[in-house]
Amino acid sequence: MTNPPAARGASLFVRDARTYPPGAGARPVDVRIEGGRIDAVGAGLDAGDLPVLEAAGRTVIPGLVDVHVHFRDPGLAHKEGWESGSAGALHGGVTSVVEVQNNPPLSTSLEALLHRIEHVRARSRVDFGVLANLLPASLPELARMAPHTPAFKCFLGGSTGLGGQTDEDTIRRLFDAAARAGRMVVAHCEDEELLRAGKRAHPNATAAEHHLVRSTEAEVESVANSIAHAEATGAELHVFHLSTAEGAARVRAAQARGARVSASTAPHYLLLSCEDAPRLGNRLKVNPSIKTPADATGLIAALADGTIDAIGTDHAPHPLAEKERPYAHAPSGMPSVDLLWPLTYELVRRGLLAPDIALAAVTSRAAATLHLPGKGALAPGGDGDLVLFDPAAERAVDEATLPSTSKWSAYHGMMLAGFPEVVVRRGVIAFEGGAALTGAGGRPLELVPPAPRGGAS
Ligand SMILES: [Zn+2]
Repeated sequence: MTNPPAARGASLFVRDARTYPPGAGARPVDVRIEGGRIDAVGAGLDAGDLPVLEAAGRTVIPGLVDVHVHFRDPGLAHKEGWESGSAGALHGGVTSVVEVQNNPPLSTSLEALLHRIEHVRARSRVDFGVLANLLPASLPELARMAPHTPAFKCFLGGSTGLGGQTDEDTIRRLFDAAARAGRMVVAHCEDEELLRAGKRAHPNATAAEHHLVRSTEAEVESVANSIAHAEATGAELHVFHLSTAEGAARVRAAQARGARVSASTAPHYLLLSCEDAPRLGNRLKVNPSIKTPADATGLIAALADGTIDAIGTDHAPHPLAEKERPYAHAPSGMPSVDLLWPLTYELVRRGLLAPDIALAAVTSRAAATLHLPGKGALAPGGDGDLVLFDPAAERAVDEATLPSTSKWSAYHGMMLAGFPEVVVRRGVIAFEGGAALTGAGGRPLELVPPAPRGGAS
């Protein structure tokens, strides 16, 4: 039944890399990858007849798992597409992505979902999971889609091209159906009514008021509401891209009473704030909005205490010409998958987050929170995905050199370190010297079987 080892990937012996975190405690280590899977990790291993990658002077970490990207392909491939999006992922040290389709064609049927998986398989350089959309139209197909998707995505608040759910009975039915299909609900939490009220209250808003138009209250209300629906239906809930300290507090309180609730946030909620609007204009316009420096502090504290599991980019590219329209007409979203490891490492360099917690948020805990086996750890039996970087090499972000299509970055000019020098995906050297070396080759992520509420029998 099982594939021969060679079918999973390539064999590679990575010699003499240094363990993470860098510094006095780091020690040299070898990683032996056989047929795409890690076979051994330790000092002084035997390379046998495997091809050897000399890694002396570099630090090794597992390949990153980005829990939230939009590559807009099929449908809006001119904004990104899988070839460039997955090249950008490798540039950021990411070997696995979970992709959220928020433009048509949506994944609301098994046929559409399977078609999308094959479309992506033919194009992606990294391993991938594609989320199915949780909409009234998908209800008859949820159970059939469940084995093929890590989770069902529900937009409580509207964003790029997709309106939010407003009717409480409908939201309850969606969560209930997801629980019966045995897959977690991943939610974009902003209350649609409060978003509309925010728009009415700020008719002449600019980017500097985006955090007032799409307010703290809109997120907090929707987080609380989603948690209530999850607790009432038995659905497992993951709140995507938390942007407020208060939203994190609601998640923390729910976890404390035993609710099956987890959460992620994004680098821009941690390293940027609404105070950057005069400098960045609509480049800062993302949904949920980027809030205050106090919110960034609260979110970092929530990562540190374990309330928030993961940092995912919510990579959401648009051409710069569209972002330069007047505020009301500029689309929301920023690219950043190209920089996930340097941005995460920056939290460590600034002393904001412990090295192990920062790493776990983009590797082991990111994989665990979305139930993705075999990813995010440098351990025997796991996939041979790893990143080599020089922790001392620092450079300014140059948006023109980033692989993904949009060629602009809110982080342009920021001094960062940790840029991946070599990225290995299942034993294949997929990225080196600033460029992707492979074409397609990404595979659907391994998924755990669905666990229907109350048992399937
Ligand atoms: Zn998103």
